[in-house]
Amino acid sequence: MDTEQPPLFRTARDGFRWDAVSHQPYKQDGSAPFKDISRQVLFHEDSLACELRYFEMDSNGYSTLERHEHAHGVMILRGSGECLVGDEVRRVSQFDLVSIPSMLWHQFRATNGEPLGFLCMVNTQRDRPQLPSEDDLNRLKSIPPIARFLEQS
Ligand code: MN
Repeated sequence: MDTEQPPLFRTARDGFRWDAVSHQPYKQDGSAPFKDISRQVLFHEDSLACELRYFEMDSNGYSTLERHEHAHGVMILRGSGECLVGDEVRRVSQFDLVSIPSMLWHQFRATNGEPLGFLCMVNTQRDRPQLPSEDDLNRLKSIPPIARFLEQS
């Protein structure tokens, strides 16, 4: 665990980057369950038991379809796209808030011809994300808006 304290003040740079924040493009290969998404950890505060991350995907990129015991609090910070939470798909755009409760399937997709970036609040100590089984995917795809959402790009 990283115990190094960041500077008290960190300046924003162009392109949704910040001083003293490392930009981590996700590795991708053919089997990766995500596409064209990067991650920056803005705050990792053990005293708050909380991290705040900024994820950004290029147009047509998407995050991993996953679920886990821990929850997320999300604010869309850049662009627009769509988001699946549980059995619901919604269009999302800048400054919208999305609550992702424990154990609901979730995924973000930059489906609106522009990048989609969001802040994501999460516990520092958290369980590993679960990926959907074939049965889980079939159940999700039995819901027409979710089938349409998952079949894009
Ligand atoms: Mn998640």
